[in-house]
Amino acid sequence: MYIKPPRGDIQLEELTECVTTRFQYFLSRYQSQAIKENENSSLKFEYLTLGTALDRVGHFTLRLLAAHCDDLSQFIGSSEASFFVERLELSSPKQIVQFINTTLRHLEESGNSDFGLLWRNEFSEILSLMRHAFKSSHMNGFSHEQTCCHYVCKVPFQMCLKMVAKRELQLEKGNVLVPCGKWKQFLHCFAEDFYLNEVFKMKSSPIIKEFMSDDRLIEIKKEVVRIFYSNSQHSLSKEAIRPDDIKELHKLFPPCMANLYNNLKKNHRLSHYARFNFSLFLKDIGLSLNDSIAFWKSEYSQPSKCAGKCSHSWQKDSAKYTYSIRHLYGLEGKRANYRAPSCYKIQNNNLGPVEEGGCPFLTFDAKQLGKCIEPYILQNKEQVIEIILQLKSDDHTKACDYYRKTLLKEANVEVSNDAATHRSPVEYFNLSKHLLFDRSIKE
Ligand code: SF4
Repeated sequence: MYIKPPRGDIQLEELTECVTTRFQYFLSRYQSQAIKENENSSLKFEYLTLGTALDRVGHFTLRLLAAHCDDLSQFIGSSEASFFVERLELSSPKQIVQFINTTLRHLEESGNSDFGLLWRNEFSEILSLMRHAFKSSHMNGFSHEQTCCHYVCKVPFQMCLKMVAKRELQLEKGNVLVPCGKWKQFLHCFAEDFYLNEVFKMKSSPIIKEFMSDDRLIEIKKEVVRIFYSNSQHSLSKEAIRPDDIKELHKLFPPCMANLYNNLKKNHRLSHYARFNFSLFLKDIGLSLNDSIAFWKSEYSQPSKCAGKCSHSWQKDSAKYTYSIRHLYGLEGKRANYRAPSCYKIQNNNLGPVEEGGCPFLTFDAKQLGKCIEPYILQNKEQVIEIILQLKSDDHTKACDYYRKTLLKEANVEVSNDAATHRSPVEYFNLSKHLLFDRSIKE
């Protein structure tokens, strides 16, 4: 738990890596993807060592970003608190005492500034008692016997409201008694509230706007937001989509996936490759296994309208289709965690212009593109297509990004041209949804 930001200079490249490594680590922990230092992981653990200047750099920069992006603040706050306690658990009593000494020094220094910290005096007293306990032979670490009451702190109940709400602590005249067996839970609870409170204070500070207009921070924020929203299965927002939502949500699909959706609705069938990619796309934007089976069943139970190209049906082949969907969700075969393809992969799969499943910005001509982007662009459609045609000759994804941002602007969503760029259909969808969500919050 850090009180004071570090001083000194850091190269922009290292700062970016430090922040994105930390954020990526939080995401992996959240998704229970175990990361061990010796495994083949690209994460640089030197950025994540408790008490180091680089660890503080990552922490304070993420705090700054959290203050500027509501979607990130809760996730970063709870991740920082868990990460802090997780590392304390792995520390020796000597390291814990060192860390407490530094924190007490920073608390004292912060007392001389205008920056009033919540519960500064109370927290100093608690840390002093903890230091005493860790210096004695009683505490060997934070993985302490939970029922132990050898040392007890008396703290205002507001310092750990969640624990009070769960009746985990004994109340005594407006204070709660926190025995050493529960110090770990107390620190987690207090740290999370502390971070969120600090973020809240920063949000209302006029200086945050000035900081966040710095091009370097804008770039770092874009990268963090991109990582956040490119995360599979919407697991971070815990947001699931249902088959009934798809009809409405398909307006936010990128043209490659909207095309497949329209073909499926028209013919009730898709080619093998297209079905594979579209199923993975739906999975990664939040469609559950059972809902996926229900969705495909409702289409494939209808008569095929693809001029004899597909003679399969759900009635005849339900076992095969169910197996293949379960396979994509990692429940059959080699149980792999399949991910929806990136734009690069889709654009490099050598599909012909009339085959299903390619990137329209690569394979479609002006006429086909015109049909593809109807009916959502209502104004200046010809001009938009002209710009898309110019951009697509150079960079297909850039053309698609321009199209996405144009749609959002048409929907009166504030979007700057240098806002995050997608690299996959799932990112395209999540970024659009995120911006629409932002707009509905503002409204
Ligand atoms: Fe789909 Fe990517 Fe092509 Fe856009 S650029 S249509 S998201 S493949």
